[in-house]
Amino acid sequence: MTILKTTKELNSWFIENSNGLAKNVGFVPTMGALHSGHGTLIERASKECDSVVVSVFVNPTQFNETTDFQSYPRTLEGDMLLAKDAGATVVFAPSPEDIYGLNVHAERVDYGPVTSTFEGRSRPGHFDGVISVVDKLFVAVKPQKAYFGSKDLQQVAVVERMSRERHPQIQIVSCDLIRDENGLALSSRNARLSSHGIALAQHISSELQASVSRVKKGLETAKSVEMAQYNLEKLGGLDLEYIGGVDKKTFAKSSADRGWTHIVVAARVEGVRLIDNIEL
Ligand code: AMP
Repeated sequence: MTILKTTKELNSWFIENSNGLAKNVGFVPTMGALHSGHGTLIERASKECDSVVVSVFVNPTQFNETTDFQSYPRTLEGDMLLAKDAGATVVFAPSPEDIYGLNVHAERVDYGPVTSTFEGRSRPGHFDGVISVVDKLFVAVKPQKAYFGSKDLQQVAVVERMSRERHPQIQIVSCDLIRDENGLALSSRNARLSSHGIALAQHISSELQASVSRVKKGLETAKSVEMAQYNLEKLGGLDLEYIGGVDKKTFAKSSADRGWTHIVVAARVEGVRLIDNIEL
C-alpha cells in the first residue's frame, strides 16, 4: 500500500499505473480515525475494483463548529494499518491547502430539501463543505466507483445528487451501516465518549429499533416516532436535535408517514454529536 500526501503525487501514481491498477479505481473518502465501519467500505471496494484509494482528510469546510473540527480525532498511523488490512491500494492524505489552495472555502449549494432539512438545517453550511470536498476529491481521484456509508444517509442523497450533475460517470455505492455489539452506530466520534456516554448513546439505536418493532406490530409510523422522541427527550444527559421519518432520496419534510423509508435521528451526548438511522 502506498501513502500519497499531495494531488501531485496522486497524479504521478495515476500516470505510473495507467495501464494497470489505475484503470478501475474504487474510492472511499473518509476523515480518518478509521474503524470497522470504514473497513467494510474498503473491503467492498477492494472486491469490486482493481485498486482502492482511501482518502483521509479532515475537511475544514464541512464543520460548522470550530471546536468539533479541532477535537476531531487524527490517527493517520493507525488508519494506514486498518486501510491496508481492508485492502486499500493507496491512502491519500492531503493538506487543506493542497485541496483548497489559499481559499479554504465552500460554495453555497441549494438542492432543496435534501440539503436544507435535518442535517442541512442542524448544521448550516455542512453540506456545502461535503459537496465541495467530494467534488474536488472526485476530480483528483477519478474513480469508477465511490463508496459511502448509509450511516450518513442524507450525505448519500446529497452526493448522489451532486454526482449526477457533475460526475455522471462515477457510480455511487451506498454501503450498510455498521454497529457495535450493543447496537451503537460506529463513529469516529465515539472515541470521545466516556463509558457512561456510550451507555447513554446506546439509547439512540435502541429507540430506533423499538420504533420499527412497534410499526411492524401495526402502530402508525408517525406515532411510533413520537414515542421514540418522548423517550429520548426525557433522558438526562442526551440532547435530542431531531428525530423524524424521511424518504431517503428526497429528505422532504412531511408529517404524513406515507413514503417514509427511514427514521433519522441526531443527538448530543457529552458534547459529542451523534447521528443514526434505521430502515422502515
Ligand atoms: P467519515 O470518516 O465519518 O466521514 O466517514 C467516511 C465514510 O465512512 C462515510 O461514507 C461514512 O458514511 C462511512 N461510515 C462511517 N461510519 C460508518 C458506519 N458505522 N457504518 C458504515 N459506514 C460508515
